[in-house]
Amino acid sequence: MRDLLGGKGAGLAEMTRLGLPVPPGFTLTTEACRTYLATGAEPPTLHGEVSAHLAALEERMGGRRLGRGDDPLLVSVRSGARFSMPGMMDTVLNIGLNDTAVHALAARSGDERFAWDSYRRLIQMFGHTVLGIDADRFEEKLAIARDAVGVATDAELNSRHLRGVVRQFRDLVVEHTGHDFPQDPREQLDLAVRAVFDSWNGDRARLYRRQEGIPDDLGTAVNVVAMVFGNLGPDSGTGVAFTRDPASGAQGVYGDYLPNAQGEDVVAGIRNTVPLAELARLDRASYDELLRIMEVLENHYRDMCDIEFTIERGRLWMLQTRVGKRTAAAAFRIATQALDQGLIDAEEALRRVTGEQLTQLMFPRFDVNHHARPVATGIPASPGAAVGVAVFDSATAVARAAAGERVVLVRRETNPDDLDGMLAAEGILTSRGGKTSHAAVVARGMGRTCVCGAEELRVDAAARRLTLPDGTVVAEGETLSVDGSTGHVYRGELPVVPSPVMEYFEGGGTPPTAGDAPDELVTAVHRLMTEADRRRRLGVRANADTAEDAARARRFGARGIGLTRTEHMFLGERRALVERLILAEDDAERGAALDALLPLQRQDFRELFQAMDGLPTTIRLLDPPLHEFLPDLTELSVRVATGEGGAADDRLLAAVRRLHEQNPMLGLRGVRLGLVVPGLFSMQVRAIAEAAAAHHAAGGDPRPEIMIPLVGTVRELELVRADADRVVAEAAPSLTIPLGTMIELPRAALTAGEIAGSADFFSFGTNDLTQTVWGFSRDDVESSFFAAYLEKGIFPASPFETLDTEGVGALVRTAVEKGRAARPDLKLGVCGEHGGDPDSVHFFHAAGLDYVSCSPFRVPVARLEAGRAALTPPT
Ligand code: ADP
Ligand code: MG
Ligand code: MG
Repeated sequence: MRDLLGGKGAGLAEMTRLGLPVPPGFTLTTEACRTYLATGAEPPTLHGEVSAHLAALEERMGGRRLGRGDDPLLVSVRSGARFSMPGMMDTVLNIGLNDTAVHALAARSGDERFAWDSYRRLIQMFGHTVLGIDADRFEEKLAIARDAVGVATDAELNSRHLRGVVRQFRDLVVEHTGHDFPQDPREQLDLAVRAVFDSWNGDRARLYRRQEGIPDDLGTAVNVVAMVFGNLGPDSGTGVAFTRDPASGAQGVYGDYLPNAQGEDVVAGIRNTVPLAELARLDRASYDELLRIMEVLENHYRDMCDIEFTIERGRLWMLQTRVGKRTAAAAFRIATQALDQGLIDAEEALRRVTGEQLTQLMFPRFDVNHHARPVATGIPASPGAAVGVAVFDSATAVARAAAGERVVLVRRETNPDDLDGMLAAEGILTSRGGKTSHAAVVARGMGRTCVCGAEELRVDAAARRLTLPDGTVVAEGETLSVDGSTGHVYRGELPVVPSPVMEYFEGGGTPPTAGDAPDELVTAVHRLMTEADRRRRLGVRANADTAEDAARARRFGARGIGLTRTEHMFLGERRALVERLILAEDDAERGAALDALLPLQRQDFRELFQAMDGLPTTIRLLDPPLHEFLPDLTELSVRVATGEGGAADDRLLAAVRRLHEQNPMLGLRGVRLGLVVPGLFSMQVRAIAEAAAAHHAAGGDPRPEIMIPLVGTVRELELVRADADRVVAEAAPSLTIPLGTMIELPRAALTAGEIAGSADFFSFGTNDLTQTVWGFSRDDVESSFFAAYLEKGIFPASPFETLDTEGVGALVRTAVEKGRAARPDLKLGVCGEHGGDPDSVHFFHAAGLDYVSCSPFRVPVARLEAGRAALTPPT
């Protein structure tokens, strides 16, 4: 129904069917709108059909005629699309009123003021929505009228005043359009319908659709509904209500009521509403009836609903209902409440929550009761609430954090050199870059709050300060509060509350006990996580480079490590050893450098095996190009040129020049490096094998898996494998250590059958696979044309965030098929960032992988989505 009638039309039809008091009306379908939008004209049969339905409506209304006779029928003309787009399209109330009908309405209602108030509302809404007159022009006239009379609100204007306002509004119409306000009711109706069709393509509506991912070609339905009047005096009014609290999910009735008003007054906030509970005092019978109807609706929709209603002289009318929008917390609580009440089953409960919502619940948040005003707003890139002193470079962030301060790292944009600072910071604020910028992606991966692209801020890292839009300056050391859920930035410290859901996961996911008054939200999360774990087929592992990350991943429910990057183990003070390795001029020098690295690596792996005891731990051998471990070419050149450096620098410069690559992403890295730098991979394999043997000897249960990056042909793998097997046999003769490869090049996917002959497992490196399939490098393109591509709809979402299932996904499927055909017991996983992305998890489930691996903070999301992916589709 919703496709054709729109959400509002379907809701009205459904309520009518349930026997609820809905004013009669009819709906023009979205199909009519689509024709109008495509051809620029209403479908030829529309006029006749509207006539027929209008006649039927007049009949149902006891023979009252639209805008005619001594009891004129008035209607509203309301937009309403498939997906709710609150306030984004137009509605016109009181259609049918004109110079004669206004008198009839006055006589019939016995309320002259009401009639003129309705007439001025019609001209005002029609003038703005249909005739395109600036809404402010009408408001100005109203303000002048109020001032002249000396009253504060429109409700205090009497019928004589309102008559004057109507006259002035009509002058405005003439002035603006050259024509008088149309007096023919049918002409009013037709023009309003057309205006609602047009509002589908209004700026507001388009922007909203882009943000919400709603297709542009659906069109809106138009609902023509007999008017009921909330502005007929103190025993009338209008309101909105939710059947449960949409913010917290608490059970009970929530809403606002405005006596003596028409619907748009509530939304416009012209007068202050009263809480719905107040209606119980004002009009008990209507209130009770409302509660009864809300129960009917909840039982019917089996979910929280929101509604619009109007009371006309003590009689309740329902004007709208839909399944209500809710916060993440409310989604989890309402789903479990409905489950407990027997309204839905566990599968349906899981369908009603998302990984996206779970993510939001894991971040600390600002106390919702704060009233501070933001000093700037950027893109909410990674949720959470961060408070700390502003610092403008990574070194300062690290130093001040080490000294026990909380810091917010403020940069124009971040790059890989900022990693330390980002880790040390509570939050990250940048003035450039979007949701896929380095800052955004990395912050999300490590669970840091991030607001990026706050373009109104001027960040001056050299001067260690930031200029706000109003020209004031924030210097290093001043406190900022950054809200990653809204994008707001505040000066000073806002109160923060920790996330109970995060505490639950950090505590290892033990069920809340009845004894200590468990948080209802945590109970709901635990309940639904349990249901998801019970249903999922996909395993969930984590990407973890350190024992600390591995331990957290385990607490969060990961059953193993899908990717340990060993490059992090080559940084810091070990850089000098890597330099020695690279500068080595003969086997002896090289051997000495490798010998020095070996015990350090062994210790790293030993700690990992302890943290992941009994669970698979996939270690990837060194992947990035070697020059990444050497000093920057330009800096070094300057040092050598100015004669600052010694002879060692000269040699280093020569090495850096030799290793310098134009396109390092496509250069000497991964398995290629392993095959041309003698001894490098052997050393790493030896460290893994020795660490495993030692842990095993100490009574542990190490489960290492060795993973080779960037393989393009089975030949590469065969060579590495032969050497690795020899080393393992020597260093850990009693252990079998599986060896597998990443599938991250198109050639690897296309020749997966051959590669499977030498691999015990495949792990899809979907980041590199995305880069190589699309032929672009993430670092180059995200800041250059991604925004334009997202804007133009070429990308539905960034392919680095959500797997491109048509392109990259097709290669994944190919490799799965060929790999399994060659070797049915081949283990298949994914270790790209996509492993923690909800949509991508669903794809990997469907593609038949064994597990996904993602950053520890994404593990709960992956578990939940893997469970949701395994649900049977709703019928
Ligand atoms: P929106 O989608 O922006 O909520 P609506 O079409 O629901 O727009 O209408 C705007 C306001 O006018 C709402 O408060 C609604 O309840 C009220 N309204 C709509 N139709 C009628 C009607 N026939 N009688 C009385 N009030 C109405
Ligand atoms: Mg509405
Ligand atoms: Mg890779």
